[in-house]
Amino acid sequence: MPAATYVPIAAKSLEDYRPIIGEAKTDEIRALAKPLEGARVLHFNATSFGGGVAEILRSLIPLLRDLGIDAHWQVMDAPSEFFNVSKQMHNALQGMFIPWNTAMSETWRQVNRANAEAIDSDYDYFFIHDPQPAGVLSNILERDPRAFDARWAWRCHLDTTESLPEVWDFLRPYIQLYDSVIFTQDTYVNGDLPGAEVTIIPPAIDPLSTKNVDIPDQVIRDVLDRYSIDPDRPILAQVSRFDPWKDPLGVIDVYRELKARFPALQLLMVASMADDDPEAWSFYERIVRRAGEDYDIHVLTNLNGVANLEVNAFQRAADVILQKSIREGFGLVISEALWKGKPVVAGEVGGIPMQLMHGKAGWLANSTAEFSRDVGALLEDPGMGARVGEIGREHVRENFLTTRLLADYLKLMHKMGSGAARHTDAAKPGRRGRPRAA
Ligand code: UDP
Repeated sequence: MPAATYVPIAAKSLEDYRPIIGEAKTDEIRALAKPLEGARVLHFNATSFGGGVAEILRSLIPLLRDLGIDAHWQVMDAPSEFFNVSKQMHNALQGMFIPWNTAMSETWRQVNRANAEAIDSDYDYFFIHDPQPAGVLSNILERDPRAFDARWAWRCHLDTTESLPEVWDFLRPYIQLYDSVIFTQDTYVNGDLPGAEVTIIPPAIDPLSTKNVDIPDQVIRDVLDRYSIDPDRPILAQVSRFDPWKDPLGVIDVYRELKARFPALQLLMVASMADDDPEAWSFYERIVRRAGEDYDIHVLTNLNGVANLEVNAFQRAADVILQKSIREGFGLVISEALWKGKPVVAGEVGGIPMQLMHGKAGWLANSTAEFSRDVGALLEDPGMGARVGEIGREHVRENFLTTRLLADYLKLMHKMGSGAARHTDAAKPGRRGRPRAA
């Protein structure tokens, strides 16, 4: 039986956020949480390290706890073969052609079945994140009827509108078992989910995490020094997993065009090699080959000691942040950069436009030529970058901080029915007798 490991949770206090978000918002969160005190909540996802979901849960779970909610975070236990399959599934759901076959279906089913065994059914609310573990609910319902009493939400961080039909058709019956599905924006909802209770919740960043908290200039300089990056020459940075959707090779092309105009330019390609991302290794090699002997291209990963503090320092040291995504869920890195007052040029995909508000907090670009034009303009006029940076920071304060996400989750829990009411059948209409996935 797999362990489906519980992730250790550090303490956080909502009161620390009061000076950042103000009295009214802080008090509203407390009022929302009050009736939910004591509710047992489980968030379940594929990995506790690398990528946006882990980033979000690391702040959300401790804040739920601080409000008296008994929140836990568990991650899947799965062999690397499963993550090969789930990455293919992820790509197919984002519209890439994948030769999906029955062996892949079986691997996914088997790992979901095994992980379901490691999940305690005695929670009031379950939030299952993304496609990797979406099948645990159907298995738990078969095993333990108490799970019918809980509320279940599937949180999808992807844009599923162009999903490969055979993969979506495979997944859909599992998703339809959930009481609620959560998407990042309404344009991401696959139209083929009839009757689903859909809630829209954009992700958010934690302004007090090591990744985002203000740090002294000296710390930034020390980090740059450790990686032989020159603080006195212009810096362009992209912080992203190495995968095709983030177009890391395209980033090097943009840099090369700009390097001809700005010979002192340095490029930081910052990536964490996540456990569930086998593609990262093949991209790592391709990136290093394309970078060749240009030592102004710095490939910086957790393998050479890059952790949250270093990412924070690199983002703050950058003159311009690039995010050359060609497909994106939300793109937390955009809010991270805006919060640091940095000008951003990014692909016009996924959740990026709602963060950048083209021309206000940053610029959307769709080709290498557009990226080099807009980044070039910012390198020439740093004053422009500072002006948009200020707008970006306030936009993030208003919309994309973890406290807003916390409020949204609390509101959803109210909408799904309070934990206290879970033992009365009347409080859970439609749950019993739901169709089961194959
Ligand atoms: N990230 C990181 N180290 C890296 C690369 C990325 O900590 O070397 C973090 C990044 O700061 C952000 C998250 O991983 O918080 C990526 O989230 P995003 O939504 O941008 O993309 P995803 O990886 O979920 O597609």
